[in-house]
Amino acid sequence: MAQTITVVPGDGIGPEVTDATLEVLGAAGAQLEYDMQLAGLIALQELRNPLPQATLDSAEKHRVLLKGPLTTPSGSGFRSINVELRKAFDLYANVRPVRTIVPGGRYEDIDLVLIRENTEGLYVGVEHYIGMHGDARAAAESVMIITRFGAERICRYAFEYARKHGRKKVTLAHKANILKYTQGLFLEVGQEVAKEYPDIEFEDRIIDATAMLLVLDPYRFDVLVMENMFGDILSDLMAGLVGGLGFAPAGNIGEDAAMFEAVHGSAPDIAGQGIANPTSLLSSACLMLDHLEQSDVATRIRGAIDTVVQNGEARTVDMGGNSTTKEFTAALVKALG
Ligand code: NAD
Repeated sequence: MAQTITVVPGDGIGPEVTDATLEVLGAAGAQLEYDMQLAGLIALQELRNPLPQATLDSAEKHRVLLKGPLTTPSGSGFRSINVELRKAFDLYANVRPVRTIVPGGRYEDIDLVLIRENTEGLYVGVEHYIGMHGDARAAAESVMIITRFGAERICRYAFEYARKHGRKKVTLAHKANILKYTQGLFLEVGQEVAKEYPDIEFEDRIIDATAMLLVLDPYRFDVLVMENMFGDILSDLMAGLVGGLGFAPAGNIGEDAAMFEAVHGSAPDIAGQGIANPTSLLSSACLMLDHLEQSDVATRIRGAIDTVVQNGEARTVDMGGNSTTKEFTAALVKALG
């Protein structure tokens, strides 16, 4: 029986990569029905609300979302709707796998998974200005929140993920040398959880050294776990190892809801040009199919992506080719037979 999911095409290149993704899902025979909803800048413009109640109601009902990127204004304006959705459904684990698809890049055979804590850290949005000497914005302060509960469930998720997917090692990246309480607690909890998984190798590393080592020798890593902002930054770095943001999928997983989205944003610099690479959102949809126990369909789609890209049948501009989003999508549909 077809599963109904909420689909939010989003802003910028969002509608282009969402159209491509839904076309490929259809061609691959995914058993899905779509409840199309708005969020982000487009929802603000059309409905005067960047996160309309109808979108929340749909997500509440179907418990699975496929979401295009949403524009978040920098500095002022509304807060990130992505963060709001993650909070609303307590989607605490942000799973971001990267693997090499395009051959001949800087690195071959990358296969890494970053597990990012999604609800705590500096992104809780507890921040304010501090007034001094008549200047209302003389200083600004943000609070990093790490709880034992939050650290434990994300570390446990990372180890369970490693076990389930036959992975050998978990690296916990932190800054406990400087942020002794918040990052110290995250590290302490991770070390405790690691003792329960003697079959999985465990190491901890300072976040800045982890960033350097990921560039110098990514093959020493397997699964990485870290708090929210570090995970946000390092997952973009890891996308760079496999050719850029066009290849990086993400699943935001909670106890009873999940949201799948590309790691990239709305890419205003190329929006409307029809040249966006849909692989990231399509690979996120594959994670969703795994989640919905339609892994056979996900495997067929991943195979089609590999065939089309590796044979050079079609490549978008960011892959070094000149295919449009539509041409690349047509090649995937053809490869799926
Ligand atoms: P971005 O990820 O949108 O773009 C960074 C660069 O990568 C750009 O040069 C862009 O053209 C390129 N790029 C991104 N996706 C691509 C694709 N699929 N194919 C080809 N090239 C691609 O980052 P940004 O410009 O810093 O952010 C733009 C907006 O997106 C901001 O408002 C930001 O807040 C938002 N954002 C949203 C999400 C999300 O919805 N999850 C994530 C990150 C950023």
